[in-house]
Amino acid sequence: MSLPRNPTRPVKIGSVTIGDGHPIMVQSMCATRTTDVEATAAQVNQLAEAGAGVVRIAVDTSRDVEAVAEIRRRSEANLSVDLQENYRLAVEVAPHVDKIRYNPGHLFHHERGTPWQDKVRLIVEAAGENDCAVRVGINCGSVDPEKREKYGDENIVAAMLESAWEHCQLLDEIGFTRYCVSLKDSDPKMVIELNRRFVLERPDVPLHLGVTEAGMPPEGITKTRKAFEHLIIRGIGDTIRVSLTIPNARKGEEIEAGRQILEDIAAGKLLPPDDGSPAGLNIISCPGCSRVENGAFVELARRVREATRYAAHQPLTIAVMGCRVNGPGETDDADLGLWCGPNFVNFKRRGEQLGAFTYEEILPKLKEELDRLIAQM
Ligand code: SF4
Repeated sequence: MSLPRNPTRPVKIGSVTIGDGHPIMVQSMCATRTTDVEATAAQVNQLAEAGAGVVRIAVDTSRDVEAVAEIRRRSEANLSVDLQENYRLAVEVAPHVDKIRYNPGHLFHHERGTPWQDKVRLIVEAAGENDCAVRVGINCGSVDPEKREKYGDENIVAAMLESAWEHCQLLDEIGFTRYCVSLKDSDPKMVIELNRRFVLERPDVPLHLGVTEAGMPPEGITKTRKAFEHLIIRGIGDTIRVSLTIPNARKGEEIEAGRQILEDIAAGKLLPPDDGSPAGLNIISCPGCSRVENGAFVELARRVREATRYAAHQPLTIAVMGCRVNGPGETDDADLGLWCGPNFVNFKRRGEQLGAFTYEEILPKLKEELDRLIAQM
């Protein structure tokens, strides 16, 4: 089955091009500590060998930038960098990578007196001078606070879309058109809505598709597949990432899953239609990145799934996040939220902080609170 494709602009990222009818590119991101050059370079090469067209690395500090420069020397892979809050690192890191991803919501964290438009100009100038593409990466858990205030929590889709369109407009005005956009959430239905509405205004902008915090395989792959199938058969999507909570040694499975989804869609092998029956227990967990402080986080997510199987039919959400920076925000919408530090796991129930527990203590505590929520239903 030949798939329709939206007439998006071509965007060159190192040796690959997305958009303009090019094959949908599968990509991924390292979950290793960026300053651990050995481990990160090995993961970059592992992902590239598995077929990743682009591999992303998170950069938070100048030391991370030095590590990226060394990784560049050790790999032929097309590299993308994930700028966290420190947008000025774009200038240092751009000479070593092929693409820069910034999150509009994160531009409000540093130098609050500087307009976000000036920050974007700095990033784009660095990209332009160093032959880099750009991704405007919008995430439900970290939306531009001005837009969030304007639309309120109940209309987060409108906030995310306005933010995306506004950034596209600014980039176009600057004259920088080598960019793509992503609009991600952990709920596949929301990912579908966001991307379908985005293309109504901007069918020309290449889209990077992803269901963030999809969780562990196989559930994480199914959630992602749901969104990708719906969008890709309608011509939406130029590059994809399947975000899975898996140990570092198995990270290549993200690429295999992405390729399989594309192959199946092309062959017309789609999931049975959703029958609309109420969803059961939803465990969302992040794929990890350089910010993970304890590798036990991946194992914890697996133990949470095992320990809560008895409640599989309950319509509740448990979120397990790998770090203390984004963990608090990314667990906001969950009924029970866990985010991991080096020795302790922080725990909350519907916004109420319940404290921090060791990796051993947390499971009984989680079950206790889960049972309490079930009893109230
Ligand atoms: S929640 Fe933290 S560890 Fe997980 S992907 Fe996001 S920044 Fe990385």
